[in-house]
Amino acid sequence: MIRVDRGPTPLGLEAIRKAEVKRLAAIVRRAPPKAKDFGHEYNVVRGALWKAQGRKCCYCERRVDRLYNDVEHFRPKTRAYRGPGRPTHGYWWLAWTWENLLFACPRCNRRHKKNRFPLARKSLVLPARQNPPGPERALLIDPSSKEDPICHIQFVPLGAGKRRKWLPVARRGSRRGKRTIKILKLARPELVDDYRDHVSDVVGPHVEKIRKAIGAGDGRTVAKAWRSALKTLFRPRQVFQALSYDVLDHHFPPAIRQRWGLDLARP
Ligand SMILES: [Zn+2]
Repeated sequence: MIRVDRGPTPLGLEAIRKAEVKRLAAIVRRAPPKAKDFGHEYNVVRGALWKAQGRKCCYCERRVDRLYNDVEHFRPKTRAYRGPGRPTHGYWWLAWTWENLLFACPRCNRRHKKNRFPLARKSLVLPARQNPPGPERALLIDPSSKEDPICHIQFVPLGAGKRRKWLPVARRGSRRGKRTIKILKLARPELVDDYRDHVSDVVGPHVEKIRKAIGAGDGRTVAKAWRSALKTLFRPRQVFQALSYDVLDHHFPPAIRQRWGLDLARP
């Protein structure tokens, strides 16, 4: 997972939000809203989110098709499972709020995250009609917030040679990293296979080139190979950038980067 920059609110969304929140408020006064009460007006943002996220899922960083994927509500709109003994009402008033909308693949959204939205033990629940975060401390990492998901989730190698796998783990024991990996199942088998293929087919050739240049001791060739790797691995539409970042960091740790004057910024 990497940071998402949505850009400005799409034209027309604010008018939709005002009208829809008013409509929902009347429903909520009578009974908890159901999924069908929300309609699909928030779909007007689908294209903008898809582009802003480099055509990838905001959680697993896999490539997604614009037509068959979901506008994801970070704070769930209908019901929210916040933890044992917590209220389960959804964040209905945020269903059309730009800052609450993301673009996710069906696997991450429908199969894994669903309505899960656990809060830290001492966190309060965001009062109705207030803007987040307020007094609320979510455990799930919001890729569009100021915090960087890479600071919470790290990819580490397991095993060697062709059998080597790369798995996401909590960076420096981050509790939120651990919960986020668990909720979204970021270590699910089909993703782990994709991680392995990405490392061997996309990152691997760059690692080899950089290694060769370092072996030959030619600073200019090293710098050129490094620049070419960053350009390919971190271009906006490239998948699994958080993984590529950790693979480069693993093969070329800070001491080596310093020696050769190589910068590795978080994507
Ligand atoms: Zn996904």
